[in-house]
Amino acid sequence: MPIPARTADPTLDVLVIGAGQAGLALGHHLTTRGADFLLLDAGPEIGSSWRSRWDSLRLFSPAQYDSLPGLPFPAPADTHPGKDEVADYLAAYAAHFALPVRLNTPVVRMHRDPDGLFAATTPTGTVRARQVVVATGPFQTPHTPALADRLDPGVPQLHSSAYRNPTQLPGSGRVLVVGAANSGLQIAAELGATQPVTVAVGTRPTELPQRIAGRDLFFWLTRSGFFTVPAHTRIARRLRARGDLVIGTRSRRLRRRGIDFRPRLTDLAGRTATFADGSTVDVDAVVWATGYRPDHSWLHVPGVIVEGQVRHTAGVTDVPGLYFLGLPWQTCRGSALLGFVGADAEALAARLAADALRGSQRNDPGLDPWAAATITTA
Ligand SMILES: Cc1cc2nc3c(=O)[nH]c(=O)nc-3n(C[C@H](O)[C@H](O)[C@H](O)COP(=O)(O)OP(=O)(O)OC[C@H]3O[C@@H](n4cnc5c(N)ncnc54)[C@H](O)[C@@H]3O)c2cc1C
Repeated sequence: MPIPARTADPTLDVLVIGAGQAGLALGHHLTTRGADFLLLDAGPEIGSSWRSRWDSLRLFSPAQYDSLPGLPFPAPADTHPGKDEVADYLAAYAAHFALPVRLNTPVVRMHRDPDGLFAATTPTGTVRARQVVVATGPFQTPHTPALADRLDPGVPQLHSSAYRNPTQLPGSGRVLVVGAANSGLQIAAELGATQPVTVAVGTRPTELPQRIAGRDLFFWLTRSGFFTVPAHTRIARRLRARGDLVIGTRSRRLRRRGIDFRPRLTDLAGRTATFADGSTVDVDAVVWATGYRPDHSWLHVPGVIVEGQVRHTAGVTDVPGLYFLGLPWQTCRGSALLGFVGADAEALAARLAADALRGSQRNDPGLDPWAAATITTA
């Protein structure tokens, strides 16, 4: 969507970095509150993080739990939309609320000027704002363990983030899938339909069926408060320590279909994979379903990223005017899920408004905190 020309004040009220589900949900609440804001996104289209996931991916959350605030997900209840349907919905959401999104615009550096304003550098110019929300997603840099370098260069290997469908791998021969969380087991199930597959299980997550007692699992988990129990409580800390849930894909069923499960991968030499129990398997391809690491190397604001992690309380950092949205466990387990990020977005929009008001009242008690503003292009 084209960004209207701005002339008066060269500074935005709010800059949102990332226009995925988190950024868009916040955009909706900022519109309602009358803020002058802009969403910047590195991707070529809205929904690109979903569009680029593997072809057969279907949500583990049913459609009635996939809506952002103000616009229901357009699919029947108890169906599990595909990843392109999610991308389409996000694009429709941005259009429906006429959200000001600038695509193909990665923020490559951000710092805070001595006057307290934030300056975000992009390939096409610098955007200045009094407040910034980082909504760049929980999944940034694909993580592959160092022993990947020891694999015979003739053996194809890819990270789950680059996996689209089985045609990317040799059609026969044994594929090793490393990692047994949602991505690893779903990819193993797909590949296992046509070729031999071994899964290396590092940490075994809790597996739950998609349906229990005639209802989708999300019904029971939502009803029990599982997604919304506050992150700072003891019960939430215990749930968090247990790690991810695998929903709908059962390793027992995969084992029955002939998929070979081994413990943690401990070595790779040439084509031979060695596991924690000392067993070995010769492999013809490897898929690393080994997760992601955060990357905030572009964020040059001291005191926010500590030992690689964002220091925050419910998305509010110690740096006045700098916030995060969509972090895993930002306020609760649902914080990084489609159907639950809206509540965090609403609370954060209220916090931004309150902080903006406090800041402007310090300078001029009569000032509208979210008056018209402008961006500059360097
Ligand atoms: C395989 C998989 C399956 C999932 N299934 C479900 C499910 O069934 N149900 C569910 O509720 N959730 C699911 N999730 C979790 C979650 O909903 C998604 O990860 C979702 O994409 C997170 O949304 P987000 O807006 O926080 O981040 P993202 O979707 O990652 O969006 C972040 C945006 O920020 C942009 N960006 C990043 N860095 C910059 C930068 N420096 N400058 C400008 N822009 C930048 C990116 O281009 C991107 O568009 C799944 C996640 C994965 C990985």
